[in-house]
Amino acid sequence: MTPEFLIVGQGLAGTTLAWQLLRRGRSCYIVDRESGPSASHVAAGLITPVTGKRLAKSWRWDELYPAAVAFYRWVEAETGERFFYQRPAIRLFATTAERDEFYRREATILRGLVQPITDIPDTFAAPLGGFEMPDAARLDVPCYLDCSREYFRHRGLYQRVEINRRELPVAGTVIFCCGFTPEPDPWFGRISFNAAKGEILTLRIPQLRESRVVHRGVWLVPAEATDTACDHTPLTSPSELFYLGATHTWQPLDAIPTAEGRAELENKLREFLRLPYEIVAHRAAVRPVIDAGYPVLGRHPEHPQLAFFNGLGAKGSLLAPYFAHQLAAHLCGEGEIDNSVNVRKYLCRDSRR
Ligand SMILES: Cc1cc2nc3c(=O)[nH]c(=O)nc-3n(C[C@H](O)[C@H](O)[C@H](O)COP(=O)(O)OP(=O)(O)OC[C@H]3O[C@@H](n4cnc5c(N)ncnc54)[C@H](O)[C@@H]3O)c2cc1C
Repeated sequence: MTPEFLIVGQGLAGTTLAWQLLRRGRSCYIVDRESGPSASHVAAGLITPVTGKRLAKSWRWDELYPAAVAFYRWVEAETGERFFYQRPAIRLFATTAERDEFYRREATILRGLVQPITDIPDTFAAPLGGFEMPDAARLDVPCYLDCSREYFRHRGLYQRVEINRRELPVAGTVIFCCGFTPEPDPWFGRISFNAAKGEILTLRIPQLRESRVVHRGVWLVPAEATDTACDHTPLTSPSELFYLGATHTWQPLDAIPTAEGRAELENKLREFLRLPYEIVAHRAAVRPVIDAGYPVLGRHPEHPQLAFFNGLGAKGSLLAPYFAHQLAAHLCGEGEIDNSVNVRKYLCRDSRR
């Protein structure tokens, strides 16, 4: 039987869309070329309510976060695996301007999302203090993808194959969930990427006892027991391992770790960590940014048998569940795509902003 939907790409976008279609009882088939590091295999999977130098509340947080929590818990129950961790995160002030901004926003826009902290461990240099975000989370993205793929494969819904986007199957709807690809897309090529390369270090810090994610210009993330090494083998002594990231660079857009990226991360770490560490891995990938952090989704206006789900940018773990749900409903004829994220905005002249 030909499935109703063929999903090209099993990163965060394709995997989450597949679950949302299956949840609706629809038939879908997922393919991935499984070659080269994808953004999803490098991502730290952080979900953080307050981000950036200006301490902005994450876009549509009040809708997106509950949707993400409910969705990942549901997939954990379906697969019997653990990969979603709700843990507080802390942010240490880097400048007095940042601290002053926090106190201006604490009782207004950031109300309910933050609380000042006074007990910062002396392993961190934090003379200006900081704040805690109780509602933060981390998705172990590789674990989520691996156990989802096993679930799909076991049911005959997954295959490793590279799709030539010029030669598409005639039946069903094909949804491109390909992340950043340097080669131009024959159907959605008018949508241009503003992609950003990111680098991450894995560190061994034997003396650090910290279960929260620490933000201070960079983020320092404790590894979980389910995390795996780059070759998918279990980590040795995960309690001593931390991820440090991430850089943002725009040229070249490749997945090659650089000495500059490593130096930038280490310099920022040394500004606040008072403990010795050892680097055990260094990875890089390209974030599929299209429109400053807004995802892009929907059916092609002229070729409705083709659809697109991309642009998850630097916040794929938070965005994917809500927007995959919206896209699945739309593909099934049961809902519309929000104007702000609709692929039509990029492909139809009269609907551009
Ligand atoms: C360094 C770094 C740190 C990050 N940290 C975070 C974070 O803390 N929190 C967060 O939420 N997000 C983070 N992100 C962003 C996150 O990784 C992305 O938003 C997300 O992974 C994008 O998923 P995707 O499925 O759109 O793309 P991808 O992960 O790139 O997946 C696309 C898939 O499509 C497949 N594919 C492409 N073309 C074809 C084809 N023709 N045929 C078959 N298969 C194909 C690829 O093999 C790949 O598996 C980070 C990204 C980077 C690079």
